[in-house]
Amino acid sequence: MLSKRKTIAIIVKPDQSVEVRAPRRVSKREVESFLQLKQAWVLSKLNEFSLRPAPHQPIFELGASHYFLGEPHRLVDATKAIQGQQMGLALSYEDDVIPLRSIDGATSAQVERKLDQWYRVEALALFQERHDYWREQMEEFLLPESVVTLRKMKRRWGSCSIHGKITFSTALAKYPLQCIDSVVVHELCHLLEFSHNQRFYGFMDQVYPDWKLGDKLLQSLSWQY
Ligand SMILES: [Zn+2]
Repeated sequence: MLSKRKTIAIIVKPDQSVEVRAPRRVSKREVESFLQLKQAWVLSKLNEFSLRPAPHQPIFELGASHYFLGEPHRLVDATKAIQGQQMGLALSYEDDVIPLRSIDGATSAQVERKLDQWYRVEALALFQERHDYWREQMEEFLLPESVVTLRKMKRRWGSCSIHGKITFSTALAKYPLQCIDSVVVHELCHLLEFSHNQRFYGFMDQVYPDWKLGDKLLQSLSWQY
């Protein structure tokens, strides 16, 4: 029984569907008894997913909301403001908007492209600023040189090469500052210790004692924005 149990897998998906994978030689009855055995786990997983808010469905049009630093920002057309500036008028925006040029009447693909570009510019400036800030906090460690780069990554928020190239996922800029800081400090600590060992987490605790909260928040919001 025990050895067979390992060959059956139950997958509970975020859309609250349940999938059971079993090799052909396993009988239906065995699958059913395995499911019964795992019932509590399946139910708790289903409950967890039902409590999770639905992922943000991005819409690429004027007035739609997109996240930056954990807050929704409205897409506005910046054309008028740019013309205004050229005429010497000072037009300022509120904080909760993303100004994009000529998006009034643009196709969804065009808006998406402009928004991507906006995120790249803003994310790079943001990560660079946090990187510099945390390097300063870590002055006593005499960190080796590091540079900040951006990439669209699907499964990771950040990485650090042995040559000190720190890469952040552009999408990280959508999440609260606390989450960003825990990724930034994580990558900076890799400049001191490459492995995720006790020494590494010792540095994390010393530099940013709240890193676990940031990680947890990021995990709970993960890829929702
Ligand atoms: Zn790491």
